[in-house]
Amino acid sequence: MSEVGVEPAALAARLIRRPSVTPRDEGALEIAAEVLQGLGFTCHRLVFGDDGEKVHNLYARRGSGRPNLCFAGHTDVVPAGNPEAWSFDPFGAALRDSALCGRGAVDMKGAIAAFIAAAQQYLGERGAGFTGSISLLLTGDEEGDAINGTRKVLDWLAARGEILDACLVGEPTSAQALGDMIKIGRRGSLTGRLTAHGVQGHTAYPQRADNAAHRLVAMLHALTTAKLDDGTEHFQPSTLQVSTIDIGNPASNVIPASAQAVFNIRFNDRWTSEMLKDWLAERLDGVGGHYTLDIRVSGESFLVPPGIIGDQLAEAIGRVTGRTPEFSTTGGTSDARFIQAFCPVAEFGLVGQTMHQVDEQVELADLAALTEIYHTFLGLFFDHS
Ligand SMILES: [Zn+2]
Repeated sequence: MSEVGVEPAALAARLIRRPSVTPRDEGALEIAAEVLQGLGFTCHRLVFGDDGEKVHNLYARRGSGRPNLCFAGHTDVVPAGNPEAWSFDPFGAALRDSALCGRGAVDMKGAIAAFIAAAQQYLGERGAGFTGSISLLLTGDEEGDAINGTRKVLDWLAARGEILDACLVGEPTSAQALGDMIKIGRRGSLTGRLTAHGVQGHTAYPQRADNAAHRLVAMLHALTTAKLDDGTEHFQPSTLQVSTIDIGNPASNVIPASAQAVFNIRFNDRWTSEMLKDWLAERLDGVGGHYTLDIRVSGESFLVPPGIIGDQLAEAIGRVTGRTPEFSTTGGTSDARFIQAFCPVAEFGLVGQTMHQVDEQVELADLAALTEIYHTFLGLFFDHS
């Protein structure tokens, strides 16, 4: 494999043909490992989780020197949904017009293939003169629970004393055109399950009851009308959205004893989840009545100030596409939330417009340009460190 150049579209197609719907692997990481081994990478296959659900991960490194630049990505994909809704086989990797088609084309098997091809090209040019390290951290558990994926691999690396000096995450961060956006942070996400408790009764005798539905409405009103903040230098304002309200009361003449709602807060760097817990308690206590609130935090907000690896990425993007990327913190969470605790991280990849949708596809020209951007970035990164 090291004799023949890795062709990014061909490698992406091989990966797409593995239906690695999270958390299943279906041999996707084996393909990556096999190609990387051929390029002189030392590959560690890491399987975490119990018998019920095993998650496959891969850490591959070429070189033993510093700095160690890591590319992080995931080979798992979200389900295709109804295959009838697609105009091609979601796992067929068909070539149509000038696009490679299939689930994972942009999120993010395409970017993995582009980085491997870029690394091969760069390592080939540097030859024996290369004294740093290039590594890849690939997981099969990003789109799912993210419990047995990147987080566990990072712990495993730390236990081995293996240091990542910087990390590039290949998520599809480009918004409209390749290179228009880099992510240098992400908002945090907190989900609250709120149950208002009351006393059941007859709707004709409300004085003998305590209507949980009314209490819940008042609590949600208190939450949805309060402003969290006006945004910060690199972040949009934090938001709270109610996603469901459930009472499940089939009787129109019964006052319900309990009522439930779920809400999700996307919060910026003005908040931590601990601060939000206090903010929520204050508002809910202000309404009064008995309630329970179950909180799940899937990630704190974080920001890597531009200037660490963002500048080199922006320079590489400018050279290849002529575009000046926006440094953004929008969108959902990604594994960068775990990596940022270990080393500076930035995210850059393909145009995300079709990710998680039917007819996911990547333009071959974008795949080639992304490979060239990653290749240019490798040169800038190792020249500067
Ligand atoms: Zn992704």
